[in-house]
Amino acid sequence: MLFTTKWLATLFPNYRGQAMDNIEVAEVATDSRKKLDESLFVPLEGENFDGHDYMKDAFDRGASAALWDKKKGLPDFLPADFPVFFVEDTLAAMQELAKAYREKVNPVVIAITGSNGKTTTKDITASVVGASFKTHYTQGNLNNQIGVPLTILSMPPDTEVLVAEMGMNHFGEIETLTKIARPDYAVITNIGESHIEYLGSREGIAEAKLEIIEGITKNGYLLIDGDEPLLRHIHLRDGVITCGFEDHNDVAITNITISQQSTQFELSDDDSYTIPLLGSHHALNASFAVTIGGLLNIATKTVKQALTELELTSMRFELMNGKNGSFIINDAYNASPTSMKASINAVKHLEGFRQKVLVLGDVFELGKNSKQLHRTVADSIDESMTAVLTFGKDADEISSAVFKQTPAIDCRHFTSKETLLDALNAYITKDTLVLFKASRGMQFESFVKQVIDPS
Ligand code: ATP
Ligand code: MG
Repeated sequence: MLFTTKWLATLFPNYRGQAMDNIEVAEVATDSRKKLDESLFVPLEGENFDGHDYMKDAFDRGASAALWDKKKGLPDFLPADFPVFFVEDTLAAMQELAKAYREKVNPVVIAITGSNGKTTTKDITASVVGASFKTHYTQGNLNNQIGVPLTILSMPPDTEVLVAEMGMNHFGEIETLTKIARPDYAVITNIGESHIEYLGSREGIAEAKLEIIEGITKNGYLLIDGDEPLLRHIHLRDGVITCGFEDHNDVAITNITISQQSTQFELSDDDSYTIPLLGSHHALNASFAVTIGGLLNIATKTVKQALTELELTSMRFELMNGKNGSFIINDAYNASPTSMKASINAVKHLEGFRQKVLVLGDVFELGKNSKQLHRTVADSIDESMTAVLTFGKDADEISSAVFKQTPAIDCRHFTSKETLLDALNAYITKDTLVLFKASRGMQFESFVKQVIDPS
């Protein structure tokens, strides 16, 4: 049980039905298609649907109470004793409920934002703290204005640590989320270009991420990418810990070695850590988790062990066997220019391959500077690559920019996936490494399916 209707009535005093009977709520649900036994149904209004229209489904599936927009009429079928809490706005009410429930359970809260690496850092952190504490964390990528409250509201009452991913597209969104979650530890993994369309500039993005400070608890910590100049002004504040590759950082990452299975690195404590993820950017993600583990007094040995046992979400730099003895890196889950460059840098550092091929597609939501931002990806590509094959509306900017700077590389742009695949097949040979990277909507996993070793 999460709480009772009696407790809900203290938050939402405008109710009807038998709320005072202490009915137990085991779950908070916004989706009426699920089994809803003992749940509080929260009808949300979207662009194309209104959850209030699905109250019948929710009731039939076992909901035991509901929030309700007070401007809307209640359907007749609801029995008079069914507890309904009338509110101004159901999303705002669910957020308020999440805030109150967070205070009630009172776990240590770790909030993770940033342009790239949120999910990875969340998963690494959950693994590290989960080794010593009863930990609840964001499932998948439920990181928005609805997902964060639902993450909080699905935490069991005996949760000791909550790790919540926080995403945003617009100003003000992180502020709302941080004031709900009230983190004791907040992480800004990096500042990239994602959602620049709505935030105007990288400065705007930094400002929007820094909203996370608004909700940090007294004596709480902010951990940031200390190599990012746009975050530098914040260094001087109390409780700020910088992690990064440059010497000046509080937690400096050094001696990085990337092999085919793992990345090894050292931190300022002179200890060496190994993660089953490829790329120095993942050493940065792990450095946040290790630092928080240390602040929570988790033994270094336990932290190291947890890092080796990470569970990875798929399509994020997944190394797979390809046909004809080739190797495939499936990084088709999503992309931004920063994450594309990070992945290419990781490919550069991987040794033991005869040829390296990059199959790159469009990065979405880059606004009017999209073409120029695509071109910046070329800066990370050097002669260690054999081919750069692109597909999409703006991705040709990458192949043509690479061709200009390094004509020795086979740079080609394709207007259909079929013709790209034909060209790619010539490269699917022994000891060739192929990276697939593009925005989610480009569906580059369709290429991956064609070239992985079926056995
Ligand atoms: P989303 O906005 O989709 O939720 P996210 O911030 O959760 O993304 P992840 O899913 O962890 O990010 O990683 C997405 C991709 O970003 C990875 O495949 C990797 O290429 C890249 N990436 C991860 N960490 C970093 C980092 N610290 N710096 C740059 N790129 C990174
Ligand atoms: Mg994510």
